[in-house]
Amino acid sequence: IKTGEPSLIQSTCAYCGVGCGVDIGVADGKATSLVGSAAHPSNYGRLCVKGSNLLNTIDLTGRLLSPEIAGEQVSWDKATDYVAEQFNDIIKKYGKDSVAFYVSGQLLTEDYYIANKLMKGYIGSGNIDTNSRLCMSSAVSAYKRAFGEDVVPCTYQDLEETDLLLLTGSNAAWTHPVLYQRIERAKKINPAMKVVVIDPRKTATCELADNFIQLKPGTDAAFFNGLLHFLSENQGLDTDYIAQHTEGFEQALTQATSWTVTKVAEFCQVSIEELTTVYQLFCSSEKAITFYSMGINQSSSGVDKCQTIINCHLASGKIGKAGSGPFSITGQPNAMGGREVGGLANQLAAHMDIDNPQHQDKVQRFWQSPTIANKQGAKAIDLFDKLASGEIKAVWIMATNPVVSLPNRAKITAALKKCELVVVSDCVEQNDTLAFADVKLPATPWLEKNGTVTNSERRISRQRNAVLPAGQAKHDWQIIQDVATKMGFSGFDFDDVSDVFKEHAQLTQFENDGERLLDLSGLSQLTAKEYNELAPIQWPVNDANPEGCARVYADGKFNTPSGKAKFIPVKPQLPLQKTSAEFPFVLNSGRLRDQWHTMTRTGKTNKLSKHTDKPYLYLHPTDAKALAVQNDDMLSITASTGQAIAHVKVDAKQRLGECFMPIHWNQNYASHGNVSDLYQSIVDPLSGQAESKQGAVALGKK
Ligand code: SF4
Repeated sequence: IKTGEPSLIQSTCAYCGVGCGVDIGVADGKATSLVGSAAHPSNYGRLCVKGSNLLNTIDLTGRLLSPEIAGEQVSWDKATDYVAEQFNDIIKKYGKDSVAFYVSGQLLTEDYYIANKLMKGYIGSGNIDTNSRLCMSSAVSAYKRAFGEDVVPCTYQDLEETDLLLLTGSNAAWTHPVLYQRIERAKKINPAMKVVVIDPRKTATCELADNFIQLKPGTDAAFFNGLLHFLSENQGLDTDYIAQHTEGFEQALTQATSWTVTKVAEFCQVSIEELTTVYQLFCSSEKAITFYSMGINQSSSGVDKCQTIINCHLASGKIGKAGSGPFSITGQPNAMGGREVGGLANQLAAHMDIDNPQHQDKVQRFWQSPTIANKQGAKAIDLFDKLASGEIKAVWIMATNPVVSLPNRAKITAALKKCELVVVSDCVEQNDTLAFADVKLPATPWLEKNGTVTNSERRISRQRNAVLPAGQAKHDWQIIQDVATKMGFSGFDFDDVSDVFKEHAQLTQFENDGERLLDLSGLSQLTAKEYNELAPIQWPVNDANPEGCARVYADGKFNTPSGKAKFIPVKPQLPLQKTSAEFPFVLNSGRLRDQWHTMTRTGKTNKLSKHTDKPYLYLHPTDAKALAVQNDDMLSITASTGQAIAHVKVDAKQRLGECFMPIHWNQNYASHGNVSDLYQSIVDPLSGQAESKQGAVALGKK
C-alpha cells in the first residue's frame, strides 16, 4: 500500500458469488472512488447496487478495533495467549473433538487454508465447518456423487451462448444481479434464446422469462425426473454420450419412468400444457443451461434435487459444451475457495477426501503435520447441537453471525451459552453472536483484507487491500497463525499472504496425477510480486491449461474411478417441515435486492434501505383478506421454534397459503423480524444443508 500517492487498486466485490471486479481509487491512504472493473471477465465493468455502494459501508463506526477478553480491552499478545491456552487445556481435558471452528464464505482462501490446516492437521479433528454449508453444500455433494469431484462445469460465458436457460430456485435478478444483466443482454442480442423460470414465487427474475413454472414448493426433483422421462420418450436422449461417458442411466430412468407429464403436473400443481412446453423446449434445444441456487440447495432433499438436474444434462449430452451444463451459483464471494482448501467438515483439503486413508496420508506428508483428521467433523447444525449437548466445549467463530443466520435461534443461543469458550473474530463491535463472545478478536474487513477468492465459475481473483488495517485489526490468517504457534505448533510461519497461497497451490499439485481437476500447479511458484499482480483466472491452471480453463469436461472424462459420470436415481421427497392445522402457512425465505446477509455492512447506508426499509412478510391478497390485514399492518408469525413480527406486503405473485420473508433482519429490529427463529434445524442427510425454504407458520394480526 502506498500512502499519499493517488493510485488505482483492482479488487473483488465483498458480497455475492458472482465475484465482480472493482477498481478502487485511493488517495492519502483513503478509498475515494469505486467502479466496476472493465477488465474483469466476470462482470466487464458492471456492478449491482450493493457493489456500487461498497464505499458507503466502510466507515469506522461500529468497528471492533482492539482485542477483548470478557469485555476488557487487552493486547494481542494477551488475547492470543489466552485463546491458545484455553484451546490446549480443553483439548487436553476432553480430546481433540471437543473444540471446533465455525467459519465463513466471507473469509479469503488464505484465511480458510490456515484455519483448515490448524484444525485438521495439527489439532487433528474434522470440526471445522462454514456458513457455506447453508449456501451450496447440497450442490457440492451432488457434483461429487456424479462427477467424482466437486467441480462446476460451466463458465459465465455459457449463459450468453446458450439456446435455453432454465433458472430454478434462483431469483438472480436480486441475488446475482450482474449475471442477470449478462443474461438480459444476451437475450437482447439473441432474441431466439429462451428463458424459463421455475419457482414457487413470481420473482423479479420472471421479467425476463418466456415461460414461468410456478410449482409447488419442494417439488423440483419431480419436475426434473419428469424431464428425464420426457427426454427418453421424445428422442431427447444422447445415446452415444450416455454409452461413452456415463454409467447408471438405466437405474435413474427406471426411477423416473413413473413421472409422466400428467403425474408431474399434478404433483407440482402446474398445468400439463406449461410443463409440456418447457420439456419440449429442453428436448429440442441443442444447448441448455440449468442455473440453480438456494431454492434447490436449501432443502432436506437438496442433493437429490441437484442430482435430478445433473441427470437431465448427462442424458441429453448437454454438458461440457459451449452454452450447456448444470450450473450451481454460490451465494457468497468465496464459498468455492473454501471448498478448495477443505473448509467443510466432510472434506480434507485440495478436494481430497477426509475418510480416504491414502488422502489422509498424502495431506499429512505434505503438511508434515503431527496428526491428521481421519473422519468427518461436525457439520454446521450438528456442530451447534454438539455445543448444546456439551460434546464440543469451545468454538471459534470467524466472520459470521450464526445466531441470526442458522435456523432455530433459541437452540443456537442456548448452545453458545452452554459453551465453555466462545471466541469470535469479526470486524464489527456488536452483533447477535458477539453478545456471547468470551473473547473478541478484531479482524480486517474488505478493503483492508488481502488475498484471493474463487467465484461461481471457478475464477480465482485477488481481493486486494486498498487501505491499512484500522486500529489493531489483523488479517484472519495472521490471527489463526499466531494462535497456532502459541499452541505449540510449527508449520505456521508464513511471512506473507502470497506464501499461504503458494502452499495451497502446491498442495493441489502434490501427487496429483490427474485424479483431481483442482490443480493450481501453474500458480504454485508465484513470487510475491506475481501473486500481487495475479489477473483473474479459472482453475485448473496447469501445464495443459497454462491460462486457466473456462469450461471443463469437454472430453467427457470425469474424476470417478471409471472415468464416467454417474447417474443417481432419485425418488422425489416433499419437504419435512409440513403445514398443519396449527401452522397452516408455508414460509419461504430469501434475499432482498439491496441487502446482504445479516446487514452488518449493507445496513450502514440509507441508500440501500430505500428499496426495502423493514422486514416484510409477502402474502397473497386472498390470504391477506382472510387475515383482515393490509399493506404495512403488523403480523405475528409463529412457528414451533419461535416467533417473529413483520409488516405485511400484499403480493399477488405469492401462491395462496404461502408467504415469503427476507433473511436479513434480526431480533434487535423494532419489529423483531428474524426469519431463522421460524425454521426447525432439519437438514439434508447427505449434505447437512438446512431446509430454509420451507417452514410451517401461523399468522395473526398484531
Ligand atoms: Fe457484488 Fe454480486 Fe453485485 Fe457483483 S453482483 S457487484 S459481486 S453483490
